[in-house]
Amino acid sequence: MKSSKESVQAAAREFLHFVNAGVSPYHVVKECKQRLLSAGFIELKESEKWDIKPSMKYFVTRNFSSIIAFAVGGLYLPGNGFSMIGAHTDSPCLRVKPRSKKTKQGCLQVGVECYGGGIWNTWFDRDLTVAGRVMVKMSDGMLAQKLVHVPRPLLRIPHLAIHLQRDVNDSFGPNKENHLVPIIATAVQEELETGNTASGDISCAANTAEKHHPALVKLLCTELGLAPEALLDFELCLTDTQPGALGGVYEEFIFSPRLDNLHSCYCALQGLMDSCSGDSLSKDPNIRMITLYDNEEVGSESAQGAQSNLTELILSRLSASSSNLTAFQQAAPLSFMISADMAHAVHPNYHEKHEENHRPAFHKGPVIKFNSNQRYATTAVTAAVLREIGGRVGVHLQDVLVRNDSPCGTTIGPILAARLGIPVVDVGAPQLSMHSIREMCCSSSVMQSSALFKGFFEHFPSVRSSLLVD
Ligand code: ZN
Repeated sequence: MKSSKESVQAAAREFLHFVNAGVSPYHVVKECKQRLLSAGFIELKESEKWDIKPSMKYFVTRNFSSIIAFAVGGLYLPGNGFSMIGAHTDSPCLRVKPRSKKTKQGCLQVGVECYGGGIWNTWFDRDLTVAGRVMVKMSDGMLAQKLVHVPRPLLRIPHLAIHLQRDVNDSFGPNKENHLVPIIATAVQEELETGNTASGDISCAANTAEKHHPALVKLLCTELGLAPEALLDFELCLTDTQPGALGGVYEEFIFSPRLDNLHSCYCALQGLMDSCSGDSLSKDPNIRMITLYDNEEVGSESAQGAQSNLTELILSRLSASSSNLTAFQQAAPLSFMISADMAHAVHPNYHEKHEENHRPAFHKGPVIKFNSNQRYATTAVTAAVLREIGGRVGVHLQDVLVRNDSPCGTTIGPILAARLGIPVVDVGAPQLSMHSIREMCCSSSVMQSSALFKGFFEHFPSVRSSLLVD
């Protein structure tokens, strides 16, 4: 695939809008929803009866943190396959504790919980804020969910000066309970502003407003236009206020939070929408689907995670047929999933960490991940199918496999392969600094992955019909 620098960077810039808006899984789903609605997708509810039509496009959300979108091929019949791409909406972060109020040494602090396996030392000395969802009691008595994102720097976890810990550059690992507590204000300033003296004792706090510093509660309520009593519960992520940006002397990199895995979410979404813009959908016998799940970073076991029944319920609903009671079972082997999650690019300063023949590089294309111990779900068959598609659309693919003496990550791939019995290939764009508060990838990877995913939706049925493995 030959593309001009301008089109590569335009694709990367569009991704930056997405990642900068996706400050929490709820905001990711909101952003996907808006883009799908403007591309003509129709929202469905799990609790309602569906009337699915050929050549039409739909989406459904669960917990407002997972979203499944699909476009029905014009030639789709129950029992035909699903062409699927899965990714995850969550990223490792710190989250505000249910009772967060802490006061120490004249500083008002906010208690936080570690979500997922972040590189927590990268959260020090960053200009942090909060984003997530808040449950509120409306004046009419209804309980409503509101999304909130305060755009200005509110919180900071300061490093301890090097003079007080000379060995900090040898081994810096914070104690996750004691050292990762951000400061939101000083007690002195709080008293000046409000006349209240800060106290840290919240053991008998009865309502939400008392469980947190009044300054934090007031800020949330101002953002949402609410009275403090209306605030019930919340799930608030801490997030960096510095937006993602193009970087490097030739602007060939993306420096950004949450590349893992909003890069894959964005490219899957874009690939699906782009594949529906031509007339190929009307001739497609399959349903094209993207499944973006919450909670991958903590094992996927939740009502909205990849281990939940969400995917199976939706696939079986779409396969349901009164004249063919085994349509869903017939559809599984005809289906295919790309499990899209970021891959580790070779690091110039730590190249020995990669197996010598499996060192994915920037700009050289998406990476197929192999692990015969089933940390990744790729098989020879699924890799060959993806290579055939890559060849058809001119996207070069790389291979990765960890060293025998190295630990290995995993993805939603093996989970969904096991739950659904659908062939899966694990793929991801190469990146560095995975799970840091600020990660890095190459700008060309947005266009490469989007083109591969669009090509997958358009070509999978014909590649599948050329496959002699049944
Ligand atoms: Zn990931």
